[in-house]
Amino acid sequence: MSSLTPRLLPRALRQTKPTTRALSLTNRRHAHTKHPSTFTPPTQSDLDELRASVQDFARREISEQVAAHTDKSNAFPNELWRKFGDAGLLGITADEEYGGLGMGYQAHCVVLEELSRASGSIGLSYAAHSQLCINQLQLNGTDEQKKKYLPGLISGEQIGALAMSEHSAGSDVVSMKTTAKEVDGGYLLNGTKMWITNGPDAHTMIVYAKTDPTAHSKGITAFILSTSTPGFSVAAKLDKLGMRGSNTGEIVFDNVFIPTTNILGPLNRGVKVLMEGLDLERLVLSAGPLGLMQASLDAALPYTHARKQFGTPIAHNQLVQGRLADMYTKFRASQSFTYSVARAIDEGFEDPVIRTQDCAGAILYAAERASEVAADAVQLLGGMGYMNEMPVGRILRDAKLYEIGAGTSEVRRMVIGRAFNKEWRVDGV
Ligand SMILES: Cc1cc2nc3c(=O)[nH]c(=O)nc-3n(C[C@H](O)[C@H](O)[C@H](O)COP(=O)(O)OP(=O)(O)OC[C@H]3O[C@@H](n4cnc5c(N)ncnc54)[C@H](O)[C@@H]3O)c2cc1C
Repeated sequence: MSSLTPRLLPRALRQTKPTTRALSLTNRRHAHTKHPSTFTPPTQSDLDELRASVQDFARREISEQVAAHTDKSNAFPNELWRKFGDAGLLGITADEEYGGLGMGYQAHCVVLEELSRASGSIGLSYAAHSQLCINQLQLNGTDEQKKKYLPGLISGEQIGALAMSEHSAGSDVVSMKTTAKEVDGGYLLNGTKMWITNGPDAHTMIVYAKTDPTAHSKGITAFILSTSTPGFSVAAKLDKLGMRGSNTGEIVFDNVFIPTTNILGPLNRGVKVLMEGLDLERLVLSAGPLGLMQASLDAALPYTHARKQFGTPIAHNQLVQGRLADMYTKFRASQSFTYSVARAIDEGFEDPVIRTQDCAGAILYAAERASEVAADAVQLLGGMGYMNEMPVGRILRDAKLYEIGAGTSEVRRMVIGRAFNKEWRVDGV
């Protein structure tokens, strides 16, 4: 394990050096593995210890006051990036060689779930950095690219983002208009990107652009961009309903030069990079709504047991019990879905089968349940639920994002339906 950062991880996990078993498995690995070469699946007790450690971190660093202030000020507490890095939280799925922990997707879900339980918006920014940017680099970068970009991102010195969406290309992202025109030694990037999480703060951004605008989906390439490059600018930091403090930006590229060495994955194969990334992105991001459901229960359970009406705690009323039972059951069902998919990918690490319908299904289900559970928490707190001094209104506003960001609920249903169509193709149709 890297000595770059003091880890908060349990001792058992810190000792996960490449063992003889791991090395022999490594030699038999499938070329398209989604895990680093030293990966061995964590045990349940490893994951439980990790969860306890992240809960401890969140209690110290993301108190309810920090979460409320982040929401109110709509500004990310930037000092957290280094603290995440020092705690070892930023490279959960990345190679140990570059400072990561190589612990896999269950562990990444655990971290995102617990951070989102403390603050939805801090969790979202964390996920954009550690999954959308770092894990994309981990999966698609060359050794040189990883060596150059991963250590700074994993230590928290640098902030990462991923930019694919545009004003006119959201659900239909392949219709993007941003172009990258070949010039001597590289490409000139021109266009705009919209709703980019961490966009206003990012040092490193994975950007998708058309390298062959006539070739539609077969003419898109992914690039690694340093945002200090001349011609890059942030047109606006956007004001939002929820996830406030997860800084979202509108980005402009005006003749931004990107060297050829910064192409991520094969030229004109950006859609493959994008789509492969999207499955794992959907899976890991489904842990965000899990954290928000747990946060709703954290608020509703003590309140309904302390609050008395008609001479008895409101939680002793059967209608309230029914609502609490439904909230809990939705949370636990969503949690089981997410972790069963993540476990299958981790345990099949030599040649993981990543089922699009499972990854899209996990986030579709968790996101919609999180909005319902958060609305239930507001209802259970009555008048206080409607007051901004309680966290439940913020949780409701935060939860709604997960039905829109990283693909909407409608698109997730479409993606699942198309996966079935592919499996059940009859006579080539
Ligand atoms: C807070 C936030 C953070 C984000 N972060 C990032 C980021 O870091 N990087 C990034 O690249 N993008 C990011 N996004 C963009 C996000 O991925 C898009 O907003 C999302 O994909 C939806 O695209 P759209 O907003 O253009 O909606 P549209 O595509 O315009 O959709 C509008 C409505 O029409 C529905 N719809 C569209 N097409 C169909 C169809 N064929 N069938 C049925 N219904 C349909 C949609 O489901 C939706 O309800 C972020 C967005 C938000 C709000």
